Amino acid sequence: MATTPRTRPRVLVLGGGLSGTLAAAALAPHSESVDIVERHALPDTPRPRRGLPQAGHAHMLWAGGADAIESLLPGTTRMWLGAGAHRVSIPNGMVSLSPGGWYRRCWPEAQYLISAGRDLVDWAVRSQALALAGVRLRAETEPVRLLGTRARVTGAVVRHRDGTEEALEADLVVDATGRSSRAPDWLAELGAPAVTETVVDAGVTYASRRYKAPIDTAGWPVINVQADARLEGAGTAGTILPVEGGEWMVSLSGTRGGEPTSDDDRFTEFARGLRSPLIAEYLDRAEPLGPVTVARNTANRRRHYEKSRVDGFIALGDSATALNPLYGHGMSAAAQGALALRDLAASGDITAPGFARRAQRAISRPAAAAWLLAVGQDALFPGAIARKPRFADRLTSRYVNRLITTACSDFTVVAALTDVMTLQTTGAALAHPRVLLAALRGPKLPPLDGPALNPAEEAVLLDGPSPRADDAGRRP
Ligand SMILES: Cc1cc2nc3c(=O)[nH]c(=O)nc-3n(C[C@H](O)[C@H](O)[C@H](O)COP(=O)(O)OP(=O)(O)OC[C@H]3O[C@@H](n4cnc5c(N)ncnc54)[C@H](O)[C@@H]3O)c2cc1C
Repeated sequence: MATTPRTRPRVLVLGGGLSGTLAAAALAPHSESVDIVERHALPDTPRPRRGLPQAGHAHMLWAGGADAIESLLPGTTRMWLGAGAHRVSIPNGMVSLSPGGWYRRCWPEAQYLISAGRDLVDWAVRSQALALAGVRLRAETEPVRLLGTRARVTGAVVRHRDGTEEALEADLVVDATGRSSRAPDWLAELGAPAVTETVVDAGVTYASRRYKAPIDTAGWPVINVQADARLEGAGTAGTILPVEGGEWMVSLSGTRGGEPTSDDDRFTEFARGLRSPLIAEYLDRAEPLGPVTVARNTANRRRHYEKSRVDGFIALGDSATALNPLYGHGMSAAAQGALALRDLAASGDITAPGFARRAQRAISRPAAAAWLLAVGQDALFPGAIARKPRFADRLTSRYVNRLITTACSDFTVVAALTDVMTLQTTGAALAHPRVLLAALRGPKLPPLDGPALNPAEEAVLLDGPSPRADDAGRRP
């Protein structure tokens, strides 16, 4: 029987994490098939899995990322919220100590974030993506090498769990194997020019622990004590995220010389040493649910695939741009990159010469915006491995500090900073004349002398839990 000639391209995605499944969602409508090759088994429920150690740490999904995911896979937000994730308003749903002081909480919502365990975030995306026509998961399989020439990648040889190898031909290969990606080596084996890399490393160590919250977490804020790069010594920070199951995911971090340890007994002590002891005071009233988990591989690492001229190959997510997790941009930048990939694929032939280069440039735009936000701060911490900050960097940093201080009492500025932080717009928005003027004027009100807690949040600290965190009105 004669076979029908293939008219639509085949895609091969390496890595079945968030970026891999989002890449599949982006390309499935424009391909005959999308095969996802993943080293580990992927559970069909939101539970911990091998290959995602960072799920033991707090993950904020900013509005820019959540909106991109919703656009790629409609209904995902409903799945998150239905499974117990929280939608947190910014700035009013955050008790946040910035380098400029405590934020007020009397403003309207400027943006939002999704606060959930990482396993839940990935599970909803994965379930949605794997249900798309043409998408197939090849779990417990891993790439051995790429196929093709120095000019065009045409697939990959993969190894199955039983040790057998298989050559998978594809018109486009997407590398989404994360920070530890071996794609630069695989491309070098084909004779392609070396992929250049930029690294900025503040030596951040993360220590995290889950807690049973002492209160119903509906309406509970994100509590966040930020580092201040202007202070002497290492920068230390901490966050309590309300996640599903009435739990708090708590992450503490320190730059080089101020790292937290994996010692369970010293976790709260470290939190007490932050710029405010607020997180420690809440932890004193909560019950730990497991040991402390530590992550040290947190450098900003950018592989400049957008400069590569190899057709048939692109990289998405941490494999292309891994970011210091402190700013919470990794998932959002990957999601926006996937959205840009979908839009480009919709407007052109993904097999055409030059498509990969155009796609990589489109993917790298949101990643570059997040990169600038991270490295601008990270380079200022002691012992950071980075280019020495230049005059222009210091000037920008002073301006941003001025904005952060003004934001504590000026909605124009807090909204602009929030739009940038949630990746809804780029840093250029901070140069808008309205924002410049507000920064020139400076803070409209004196700084708050402590966190803006509502009575329910205060009650946990004074007398133990009151019934619901969102029952009480907010104080300014
Ligand atoms: C401590 C910490 C806290 C963080 N906090 C935040 C946050 O608040 N907000 C945020 O947005 N981001 C945060 N991040 C970043 C976020 O975790 C990453 O940006 C995100 O996981 C990137 O997704 P990815 O799919 O590109 O990579 P990964 O999540 O690493 O997924 C890679 C996938 O590829 C698979 N794989 C790896 N190698 C192979 C191979 N050879 N063959 C086949 N499969 C392979 C892995 O099993 C995995 O499934 C944090 C990171 C850390 C470390």
